[in-house]
Amino acid sequence: MTSFVLVGGGVASAATAAGLRSQGYDGRIVLVSDELHLPYERPPLSKEFLAGTFDSGGIQANPEGWYADNDVEVLLGTRADAIDPARRRVTLSDGGVLAYDALVLATGVRARTLPGFSGDRVHSLRSIADSERLAARLTPGSHLVILGGGFIGCEVAAIAATQGVRVTVFERGAAPLARVLGPDIGDAMMAIHGEHGVEIRTGQSVTEMKETASRIELSTRDGEVVECDEVLVGIGSVANAELAAAAGIAVDGGIVTDEFGRTSAPDVYAIGDVASRHHPTYGRTLRVEHHDTAMRHGGNAARNILGEAVPFTEDHYFWSDQYSHSIKSIGHGGVEATKVLRGSVADRSFSVFSHAGGRITSVVTLDRPQDLMTTRKLLATPHEVTTDQLADPDFDLKSLLPQRQRTRRAEASR
Ligand SMILES: Cc1cc2nc3c(=O)[nH]c(=O)nc-3n(C[C@H](O)[C@H](O)[C@H](O)COP(=O)(O)OP(=O)(O)OC[C@H]3O[C@@H](n4cnc5c(N)ncnc54)[C@H](O)[C@@H]3O)c2cc1C
Repeated sequence: MTSFVLVGGGVASAATAAGLRSQGYDGRIVLVSDELHLPYERPPLSKEFLAGTFDSGGIQANPEGWYADNDVEVLLGTRADAIDPARRRVTLSDGGVLAYDALVLATGVRARTLPGFSGDRVHSLRSIADSERLAARLTPGSHLVILGGGFIGCEVAAIAATQGVRVTVFERGAAPLARVLGPDIGDAMMAIHGEHGVEIRTGQSVTEMKETASRIELSTRDGEVVECDEVLVGIGSVANAELAAAAGIAVDGGIVTDEFGRTSAPDVYAIGDVASRHHPTYGRTLRVEHHDTAMRHGGNAARNILGEAVPFTEDHYFWSDQYSHSIKSIGHGGVEATKVLRGSVADRSFSVFSHAGGRITSVVTLDRPQDLMTTRKLLATPHEVTTDQLADPDFDLKSLLPQRQRTRRAEASR
C-alpha cells in the first residue's frame, strides 16, 4: 500500500488530506503535527477568538471526526525531526520512523523573536495557546505595547482597544501596514486606530526591555522609557524550513518549489506559508502567508501527488479585519506597476489598483468588497483598462467583464 506523509498541523496539511480522499486515494495518509490540537484556522486567533466571541470547536480546519471517518492517521504532539530523501523516511521525535511514497512539508512559519524580549509578560501570536494567554491579559485599563504595526499588531490593537485596554503600537515605518499595503491604507488605518484611542508611534522603535516586579519598562531608540503591563512582539515570521535544509533540499527564505509544489528532492512537496513557490502567472517565486493560498496549495498538492501535473496559477488573496473595517486584496502588484486610487481615503472607502501592461494586476480594498469581487473575475479574464478609467468612480468596472458574465450577474440579481 502506498503511504503519503504530511508534516505540519496547519490548514495546508489538512487541505491536502481532504484533497487526497476526495480524489479517491484510499492508501495510507499520516499527518504529523507538533501541536496538541487537530489542524485549525489561525486567522480568528487575532480576531474573534482573541475577543472571546469564537468557539474553539468551530476553528478546526476539518471537523473533529473527519480524520477517523476518513482513515487519516494523525500524530499530534509529534515532531518530524529528520528526513532522508534517499531512503524515503521521516524520523519522528518519539523515535518512530515513517516510510513515504510522497512527502508533503507544510511546516508553516514561527513568530520572529527579538533578542532580550522574553518572559511571562511578553507575547507572540501563532497558536491557540498564544491567543488564550494574551486574551487572559487584556484587562480593561491595562497597558499593552505592540512592537510592529503589521497585520497581527493592528488586529490585536483593534481587539484590545475595543476591550478598554490602553494600546501603544511602535511602528518603524511611516504608518501601520504601509510597508506591505502602501501609504493610502497606512494613512486610513492610522486614522481609524487613532479614533479608537490607539496610540501609534511611527518612525520609532523599542530597543530594550526591563521587567520589574509588576511592570515592564521599554526603552526607545530616542532614549524614552515607556511603562506597560504586557508586550506583543509582532515583527513578522520565519519559515520553518530547517527540516528541509538539513535534508539537503533547496531553501531560499522558504522551501523552494516549482509551480507544481515539487521541491528539489524527488516526491517531496512543500506547500503553504513555508513554500517559496514559483507562480507561473506572476513570473516569479514568492512565499506568501495567506490562509486562502495555504488551503489551495493543499488541494493542488493532492492532485499532483496523485499523478496530475497541475501548476498553481491561482491569484493570491488575503483579508484583514480591524474594528468594523475590512481590508481585502487579490493579485500580485509588483513594484513596476502603477498604483491607482479609486474612491476616497477620507471616507474610508477606497481601492488601490496595480496597473501594468494596460490591465489590472492586483487590488487592495478598504471596505469596497464589490471592487474585490469584480477584480477577482477580471484577473482571470483578458481585459484592457486605462489608469484614468480605474480612477474614475463613475466608470463601471463590471463593463470590463465579458458580456456573458455581466448578463449572468444581472440575471442573478433579479
Ligand atoms: C494570528 C494570525 C492571524 C492570521 N490572520 C490571517 C488573515 O486574517 N488572513 C489571511 O489570509 N491569513 C492570516 N493568517 C495567516 C494564515 O493563518 C496562514 O497563512 C496559514 O495558517 C498557513 O497555513 P500552513 O498550514 O501553511 O502553516 P501553519 O498554519 O503555520 O501550520 C504549520 C504547522 O506545522 C507544524 N510544524 C512545524 N514544524 C513541524 C515539524 N517539524 N513536525 C511537525 N509539525 C511541525 C506547526 O506547529 C504548525 O502546526 C494569520 C496567521 C496568524 C498566526
